[in-house]
Amino acid sequence: MAQAEFSTSRREPIRDILDRALAGARLTEADAIALIECGDADLPDLMAAAAAMRDRAKGRDVTYSPKVFLPVTNLCRDRCTYCTFRKDPGEPGAWTMTIAEIAEWSRRGRMLGCSEALMCLGDKPEIAFKEYRATLAALGVSNTIEYVARACAASLAEGLLPHTNAGLMSRAEMAMLRPLNVSMGLMLESIAPRLRQSGGVHQWAPDKDPAVRLRMIDEAGELKIPFTTGILIGIGDTPAERAQSLAAIRASHERHGHIQEVIIQNFRAKPGIAMEDAPEPGALEMARAIATARLLLGPAMNVQAPPNLSPHEIELFLDAGINDWGGISPLSRDYVNPEAPWPHLDRLAERCARAGFHLNQRLAIYPEFINDEWVDPALRPAIDQHNARLSLEVSA
Ligand code: SF4
Repeated sequence: MAQAEFSTSRREPIRDILDRALAGARLTEADAIALIECGDADLPDLMAAAAAMRDRAKGRDVTYSPKVFLPVTNLCRDRCTYCTFRKDPGEPGAWTMTIAEIAEWSRRGRMLGCSEALMCLGDKPEIAFKEYRATLAALGVSNTIEYVARACAASLAEGLLPHTNAGLMSRAEMAMLRPLNVSMGLMLESIAPRLRQSGGVHQWAPDKDPAVRLRMIDEAGELKIPFTTGILIGIGDTPAERAQSLAAIRASHERHGHIQEVIIQNFRAKPGIAMEDAPEPGALEMARAIATARLLLGPAMNVQAPPNLSPHEIELFLDAGINDWGGISPLSRDYVNPEAPWPHLDRLAERCARAGFHLNQRLAIYPEFINDEWVDPALRPAIDQHNARLSLEVSA
C-alpha cells in the first residue's frame, strides 16, 4: 500500500498534463495512462479539456452515418465470449445473405435515405466449416472476401457506399476490396495479449491476436484505405491497457495518416453469452476513456461512441469529447447488439441540440479523405452524388 501511494504521489498532476495537451503538446502513453486512471475529483477537468480540444477542430457539430447493416454471414471461426452474433452452420439463426438480399436491403435503405452499406460479418468461417465451404463453392467463389466483393458491388449498384468490416483480412484481400469500399474497419478491441490466454475473452478467437490486428491496421494505411478502428471496453481490459491500445492506434495513424475515426465501445451483457453476468463498464469509465482518447488523439481525430449502447449517456459523452455517433440505421437492427435499438433520429437531434450541438449526416468516408490519394476513382461519382444531396439538405 505504501509503495502504491508513493508511486501515485510522484505522478505529474492531472491539471499539468491537461494544460500541456491544450497547449498542443503530444501526450505520451504514460500521460494517457495517468489521465484514464485519474480520480473522480479530476474527472470534470479531464472532460472539460477534452471537450475544449474537440471544439477547436470540430466545433459543435456532431455527426452520424445513415446506414444499412448487412450481416453478410454470421458464421465465424472465432468464439469471443461476449459475442451473440456468431453461429455455427445449421444452428438456429445461422445465415449467409444472398446477393439478391444484399441488393434488396440496399435498395430499401437508399429509399429511406441511407448512404452507407455496412458489410459486417464473422471471421474466416471457411477455415472452420466444410458446409460453408460448400456454400461458397455453390455461390461460385473460393472464399468469404470474394463473396463480400460481390456484395459490395451489389450495394454500390443500388447507390450505397460500402464500408466493410470482415474481421482480419490479408493485404491482398483489402487491395481487392479497395475499389469497392469508401472505407474499411477493424476494431483493435484491446492491445492486451493476455485476453487470448486461458480464461480470457479471446481464448478461442485466433483472429483476436492484437499484434496481427495492428499489422492489418498498418497494412490498410499502406494501401491508402481510410480506416475505422477502436477499443472495446469491459472485456477484462484494464484502464491502462485502454490507454495503451489508444496509443497503438495513434502510432499507426502517425505512420500512415489513415485512421478516420476511433470508436470507444462498451461491452454490453446479454442473455445467452458466456459473459451474460459480467459487469458492464460504468458511464464514468466510458467518459474517462472517451476524454483520454480525445486528448491523446488530438483535435482533428473523429472520436465516436455508439449511442444505442449507452442511451442514457448522450450528454455525458458529448461533454467527454466525442464528435460522432457512428452508423444509425432506419432499416436494420444492430445485429451485434440486437437488444439495443438505434435511437430515433429526431430524439437524438433534440438531445444534441439541448446540449448545444447540431446533429449532421456524414458519409462512410469522412470529408478529409475524399481526394485522389484515398479514394479509388471508380467510387468518386457515387460519393459526389451523396455529397451533393447532403449540401442540398443543409442549404434547404
Ligand atoms: S466478436 Fe466477431 S470475431 Fe468474435 S465471435 Fe463474434 S463475430 Fe466472431
